[in-house]
Amino acid sequence: MGSKSRQLHMFFLPFFGHGHLIPIIDTAKLFTARGVKATIVTTPRNVPSISETHGMKIDILIIKFPAIEAGLPEGCENIESVNSPEMVSKFIKATKMLKQPFEQLLQDYHPSCLVADVCFPWATDVATKFGIPRLVFHVSSFFSVSISHSVTLHEPHKKVLCDSEPFIIPNFPGEIKLTRMQLPHFTLQEVDIEYSKWFKEAMESELRSYGAVVNSFYELELAYVDHYKKAWGRKAWHIGPVSLCNKDTEDKAKRGKEASIDEHECLKWLSTKKPNSVVYICFGSTTNFSDSQLLEIAMGLEASRQQFIWVVRKVKNDEKEEEDWLPKGFEKSMEGKGLIIRGWAPQVLILDHEAVGGFVTHCGWNSILEGVTAGVPMVTWPMGAEQFYNEKLVTQVLKIGVGVGAQQWTVVVGDSIKSKVVEKAVRRIMVGEEAEEMRGRAKALGEMAKRAVEEGGSSYSSLNALIEELRSSQCCP
Ligand code: UDP
Repeated sequence: MGSKSRQLHMFFLPFFGHGHLIPIIDTAKLFTARGVKATIVTTPRNVPSISETHGMKIDILIIKFPAIEAGLPEGCENIESVNSPEMVSKFIKATKMLKQPFEQLLQDYHPSCLVADVCFPWATDVATKFGIPRLVFHVSSFFSVSISHSVTLHEPHKKVLCDSEPFIIPNFPGEIKLTRMQLPHFTLQEVDIEYSKWFKEAMESELRSYGAVVNSFYELELAYVDHYKKAWGRKAWHIGPVSLCNKDTEDKAKRGKEASIDEHECLKWLSTKKPNSVVYICFGSTTNFSDSQLLEIAMGLEASRQQFIWVVRKVKNDEKEEEDWLPKGFEKSMEGKGLIIRGWAPQVLILDHEAVGGFVTHCGWNSILEGVTAGVPMVTWPMGAEQFYNEKLVTQVLKIGVGVGAQQWTVVVGDSIKSKVVEKAVRRIMVGEEAEEMRGRAKALGEMAKRAVEEGGSSYSSLNALIEELRSSQCCP
């Protein structure tokens, strides 16, 4: 068969965490909807997160995750089960070992293009070896990706005297200030050489790739989209919010994992509430808090006198009548007013409900974009990854959120934020003039997000342009 008549076949290689898997699955669905063949490559224990693609024909190929070989416990195939810096290093080692079996798949299947998560630094060279373009998939904003590059190149954090002294991000639009305490450990060589070496490799491999695919939309961060392309000389396509490809209740409810609450029960609870009267609190797929911090959150929520849905990554201990991380009788006294979901929440379904009027978030990029799409103001509580960068976009650039005052980057638990601070921050996004102003701006952005993915919108057109470019380069190698 001649190359001209060959259907475009995209290979997707998501990193092994729900914040990475979920947006790549949505992206694969978007390509499939345009008549492109999509195959997701993953490891056995990550398959269940992918199989719910409702009617969309997406193929899955499985490669073995070398957990034991890398010194990890058997079955440790997702960053959700990684809970110490030592395990992080071993997990990185395991992902490097996937290069060879992945090459074999490229050899066997001859895809036209590889969309690989930024966390696979070897992907650009592997794609080059097989003569196909590698697109970097970012689970972050143009804003934050550009900050990462700028910090890596210019090292502004080395020019300040102490960890808490602010520095300005060099050659970057707007005066964005950060401190060394807020920088990811993977950018600080003095903290973890292995981790930062891997991160540097990922950055370099991005700059040698064909281009980047970003889950964002032009109107949200236009100055930063333009800056990224110009400053780093990269091609880039903004194709988001990709979560909007999930149209019905079932699709929205079944992203990533089976929810710990029945979606209809959740919607029933929300339907008894007035518009914008419920605050949603969720810290993503990996954050763990100490019991004492959870207690402070519970007390802060109660004192804020706002109705809430609070997602806690803990299962109920049936042997204990009361849990240590909740004030005595908390759930009983909050009945009808506050709902605790233990485990996994149908986040997009909840955020999209008109009763939800605010979001307390750890600033994972998917969560922020889902909050923007839902048009809700946010309390920002960053902890790890590039979340301190994302916070700046929300509070300083878009002005749709207020910070809880987190200062320190950390892998395991958040800062100790007192209940009074939680109470005040929640009230600031839910009630009063400031909240209404932020809500107005957030709603306007939410409308823009929806327009971006409709026919003729900025993300719709960007995805079309990418597909066209790949098709024509496939025809004329
Ligand atoms: N999510 C969800 N239910 C939960 C927790 C998370 O559906 O209980 C989804 C959320 O909608 C988002 C993703 O998981 O799409 C988390 O990605 P994010 O970038 O916000 O944070 P991460 O988990 O990577 O820190």
